[in-house]
Amino acid sequence: MELYLYNTLTRRKEAFKALFEDYVGLYTCGPTVYNFAHIGNLRTYIFEDVLKRVLQYNGYRVRHVMNITDVGHLTGDRDMGEDKIESGATREGKSAWEIAAFYTRAFQDDIRRLNIMEPDIWCRATDSIPEQIDLIQRLEAKGYTYRTSDGVYFDTAKFKDYTKLSHQRLESLQEGARVEKNPEKRNPTDFALWKFSPPHVRRQMEWESPWGVGFPGWHIECSAMSMKYLADHLDIHCGGTDHIDVHHTNEIAQSEAATGKKFFNYWMHGAFLIVRGGKKMAKSAGNFLTLDSTFVKKGIPPLAYRFATFQTHYRKPMEYSEEGIAAARNGLSHLRHQVRPLMEAAPEGTEKVDPGRVHAEFREKFLAAVNNDLNMPVALAVVQEMLKSKITPGEKRATILDFDRVLGFLLAESVRPAALPPEIERLAAERRAAREARNWALADRLRDELRQRGYTVQDHKDGMKVIKET
Ligand code: AMP
Ligand code: ZN
Repeated sequence: MELYLYNTLTRRKEAFKALFEDYVGLYTCGPTVYNFAHIGNLRTYIFEDVLKRVLQYNGYRVRHVMNITDVGHLTGDRDMGEDKIESGATREGKSAWEIAAFYTRAFQDDIRRLNIMEPDIWCRATDSIPEQIDLIQRLEAKGYTYRTSDGVYFDTAKFKDYTKLSHQRLESLQEGARVEKNPEKRNPTDFALWKFSPPHVRRQMEWESPWGVGFPGWHIECSAMSMKYLADHLDIHCGGTDHIDVHHTNEIAQSEAATGKKFFNYWMHGAFLIVRGGKKMAKSAGNFLTLDSTFVKKGIPPLAYRFATFQTHYRKPMEYSEEGIAAARNGLSHLRHQVRPLMEAAPEGTEKVDPGRVHAEFREKFLAAVNNDLNMPVALAVVQEMLKSKITPGEKRATILDFDRVLGFLLAESVRPAALPPEIERLAAERRAAREARNWALADRLRDELRQRGYTVQDHKDGMKVIKET
């Protein structure tokens, strides 16, 4: 069955064709690690996870690269303002490196709790400075760059088709870009490839370059690292819709100018999570909810958020509400109730999908839904139709476990908890000992460490229990 995906480049749903048979190169723009991710950001990462799982469900092997932006993303959109990481460091009285390391871990913790599959490659911008410098030199050699007093810029007027992703008239893009004026720029849409450290300031993150000491602009990292870890021309590149006009437009311009090849064939974008009144959830807007504050601290399983996001197609804005989350929590718990008797009836050790028993007709229906540009609301309806149908419990079990490869609700694990891995047993034993020795600081540290690995500790009067979060 064909897989249809909506391509922002063409503004159409297209039958997906991989460049190399059954292999897909996927690049997803990762977080800027100066604060916790909010659940709006996480909505985008869940959409990308579903995309990856659907590709795999269709038999593709996916090589997935995600970057960590730990330098160069400024507080103003157009290469103006402070570096977000350095401003986070000032805010918290830590070093820029500590801030980046701390929020990278927090992000990885969040995506694990949402059962988002890890990328094959995590790459930090600060680990690929030479590749970024090299790419800027290639652009320089081809005459696409110019220098100003504060950096090296890309001349967007030299790249024809600058608006091919945004589909906007150049004048309207320029109008938007004019807000933050930099009189030395030749065109309002030009963007920094390299920025100089300000005179007499020693930044925490800065490097030597052929143009002077400084740091890379935000956009160049994604081009350099997708060429480094994937190739010059690959299949799918994703992010949130806010990336269309500036970040991805600039990535395309600089990559295609340097290589002379098309950069990615498909560009896919997830719509925003919004709050009542239509405002987008944003770190700067003060309406910023995290997975911890909205779910974990309230005892709501994070996977309820995964379920909640499946109620709305990824290209439609989703409105956050407590009622919506409560409904999703009930929906997930109802699903688990439906699956439990199917699993319990199965002999031990048969949690794996038995492909022979997957119900072909329902699989076809489910596949039709997810292959229609990842239509998860319809996919969830197929799940209910299948579970309420008259097919045998064995077929239902095999079929729901097969669907769960895309849904990612950990349905088998949630019904029959597996024994704790030895490493977790060891940490649990150490924590028991710390509690008995009344070493509360160590006990707290071990509880956090278990939580980082996805296990919740419950303290009771007569002991403690360690439970895998699902
Ligand atoms: P950032 O950490 O700001 O670079 O953003 C990480 C990802 O979240 C990017 O792909 C953004 O496009 C996306 N994003 C930002 N705000 C929202 C939102 N309110 N809803 C959905 N995605 C968002
Ligand atoms: Zn990017």
